[in-house]
Amino acid sequence: MAVDCVIIGAGAAGLAAARELIANGLDVVVLEARERIGGRIFTHRDRGIPVPIELGAEFIHGAAPQTAEIVRAAALASCDISGRRWQVIGESLRPADDFWERLDSVMRRLDPDRTPDRSFGDFIKRKPGGRRLAANRRLALQFVEGFQAAEPARISERALAAGGSPRGDVRERRIGRVLDGYDRVIEWLAQPLGDRVRLSAIATRVRWAPGNVVVEARHADGRTRPTVEARSAIVTVPLGVLQADAGESGAIEFEPELRGKRAAIDLLAMGAVVRVVLRLSERFWASDWYAKQVGTRSLDTLSFLHTGDEHFPIWWTSYPVRAPILVGWHGGPGATAIAQLASEQIEDLAIVSLSRQFSIPPRKIRGLVEAAWMHDWVHDPFSRGAYSHQRVGGSDAPAQLAKPLRGTLFFAGEATEAGEATGTVHGAIATGRRAAEEVQRSLMTRSSAARRGAAD
Ligand SMILES: Cc1cc2nc3c(=O)[nH]c(=O)nc-3n(C[C@H](O)[C@H](O)[C@H](O)COP(=O)(O)OP(=O)(O)OC[C@H]3O[C@@H](n4cnc5c(N)ncnc54)[C@H](O)[C@@H]3O)c2cc1C
Repeated sequence: MAVDCVIIGAGAAGLAAARELIANGLDVVVLEARERIGGRIFTHRDRGIPVPIELGAEFIHGAAPQTAEIVRAAALASCDISGRRWQVIGESLRPADDFWERLDSVMRRLDPDRTPDRSFGDFIKRKPGGRRLAANRRLALQFVEGFQAAEPARISERALAAGGSPRGDVRERRIGRVLDGYDRVIEWLAQPLGDRVRLSAIATRVRWAPGNVVVEARHADGRTRPTVEARSAIVTVPLGVLQADAGESGAIEFEPELRGKRAAIDLLAMGAVVRVVLRLSERFWASDWYAKQVGTRSLDTLSFLHTGDEHFPIWWTSYPVRAPILVGWHGGPGATAIAQLASEQIEDLAIVSLSRQFSIPPRKIRGLVEAAWMHDWVHDPFSRGAYSHQRVGGSDAPAQLAKPLRGTLFFAGEATEAGEATGTVHGAIATGRRAAEEVQRSLMTRSSAARRGAAD
């Protein structure tokens, strides 16, 4: 029997949509390719340390009302990151208290209405702000590569102007963490769903006509799973999966094709990120021996460290929780190359980077590292990258991708978020709720049309 809606993907968007539909009395089935829910929220727990280890999303960016509301409803602990940013200049460590102001001095010069659109790289080449802002432009380039995970030569100026940085808004500059782990947000979303979520169900083909959808799926080992028939579908798979060629693992064949979506899909890009979490035997940056080496005790509250390192330019701690954890991050084009390496080689690069940036011999750092964790999002067939951004000319692409087809196929997921929250957890949740509303409206319209037809 056909259900009201089949949802493809049990990440933040898919689960938010399912929860909303169930709350409104609709019947749903969620198909999830992996053996777990959560998608790009992937929390690991280790008995040796007091904080959860995030392998995917970690931060709550800005006010993030959708996440804040779940944190409240689920009685989760969250905190703002209150520590201090530092940067490495030459061989020395210096506070970077003016990070946001310096970034904004460049980002506020972006033009949201630029016609024709151009790349951030071309914008920077024009040297906005002149010689005075040369160092700030380097910082902005590093930010766009690192946090947007984008190639400066391809990312859209218009899109970045509209939502690429928090600008002067202090609420949007806030960065927080779910202390209980981001997976608790996912668990809360999934709570009422029970066995409506089918794990290890890789959707392979979607046959659809107005008012009817049939989804074929298979197990990871190739065995077919029962098809699901529904009156509507919400597709929440990552952009990377929508871009995958037919026959590639995770790719979905749509019959008829997603006409009208191809241009939007091509104007969006999936960014690459490599992220390494290291558990150390001590918080060496706050130790007496390190304070003596660098001549300051102020690193005790270190939150982020910005460096010019070619492999891991950004590092952060778990501050304000004092845990012996360091996370190394490389976003953007360089991350694609690093992601080709074996995990032991990536760990080695991270250790060498730490050693360079903190001026500590590699052997000593190696002796401090007790464990390392990472997840290869670039080659994971069910993400095919970290998160999306808009290419030149693509500032409208998320809205185009989000548009329903014939009141039957609906689209959610971070890449369909048309506002400032593309590439975030709260953006993904918002799109799931938006798609759920669209489904309800469409089903209601269809029911009343059918009733009218019966009465005539
Ligand atoms: C390393 C990293 C760090 C990040 N850091 C942050 C951060 O600090 N803060 C933040 O807000 N955001 C962050 N993000 C982004 C954030 O994780 C995502 O924007 C958000 O989780 C996306 O949710 P989604 O539901 O759109 O997609 P997903 O979570 O990817 O969910 C889609 C689901 O579809 C499933 N799927 C794929 N193909 C198929 C198929 N064929 N059949 C069935 N199911 C399929 C996938 O397995 C997945 O579960 C980060 C992402 C990464 C990778």
